[in-house]
Amino acid sequence: MTFQNRTALVTGASRGIGKAIALRLAGEGVAVGVNYRERAAEAQAVVEEIASRGGRAVAVGADVSDEAAVAATVAKVEAELGPIDILVNNAGIFRRMELGETDWEVMDQMQRTNVRGVVVPIRAVVEGMRRRGYGRIVNLSSIAAHGTSMAGTTFYAASKAEVVVLTRRFALELGPFGITVNAIAPGFIATDIVWVDRTREEVERLFSTIAEKAMMRRVGKPEDIAAAAAFLASDDAGFITAQVITVDGGRTDYINHG
Ligand code: NAD
Repeated sequence: MTFQNRTALVTGASRGIGKAIALRLAGEGVAVGVNYRERAAEAQAVVEEIASRGGRAVAVGADVSDEAAVAATVAKVEAELGPIDILVNNAGIFRRMELGETDWEVMDQMQRTNVRGVVVPIRAVVEGMRRRGYGRIVNLSSIAAHGTSMAGTTFYAASKAEVVVLTRRFALELGPFGITVNAIAPGFIATDIVWVDRTREEVERLFSTIAEKAMMRRVGKPEDIAAAAAFLASDDAGFITAQVITVDGGRTDYINHG
């Protein structure tokens, strides 16, 4: 993959998929802003891991839905590493919620992080990208947005479907400026997020059930997503925009697949 002297900002990169994306981009020679919300020590460890392999990175704390904090993050990354050419909107939260429940606070949290938390960082970097006539934006959606059948994920799915629409609309708006906007829809990836509101037994049962439903007969690894993100973020992917790349091992259990 080709990356010409690029700088990236990866949100929610202290662990999980975001960390794998940060490490992968750094391995490709990209300077990386490692955003975190609360895990400063883990984010710093990612920065040190990158530095120990000869890469350049800086840890930057900000809630992705907070405009002022994200503006400060962008300013810090650009001052220390250079203009941001690549934005990976990875930060996201998953909360289980059934139709019968009316916990508006939970719904608002998912909207704030998963939707507003995509729009705010894009707004913060897009002016510079437009001026330079180059940009790569990669948003993390989910196969939940395609209509999977996993119980309790309906409202999370709705927030990730919004990410798909925003991806296509922003791609339309930003294409003339040399900026691509794509999304990745990961399947089930073994990270901390899958432990939310589940017991160990439930997670293990889920792992084997999901593996059976995937054509590749396994659950995903953060590195599977990082590979797709790196490609979409690379110079090579300049004619790919407004796309949602599903990385799920070939799941066969979508509602609309019967
Ligand atoms: P994770 O919980 O391990 O990591 C998410 C990261 O985002 C965490 O470091 C968290 O602190 C950070 N974050 C959350 N809210 C934030 C905020 N407001 N500001 C800044 N950072 C914030 O989850 P993951 O599995 O690595 O998921 C990464 C992305 O991939 C998410 O958008 C998630 O919805 C999506 N995804 C994950 C799976 C999966 O199976 N793991 C499947 C589909 C989509």
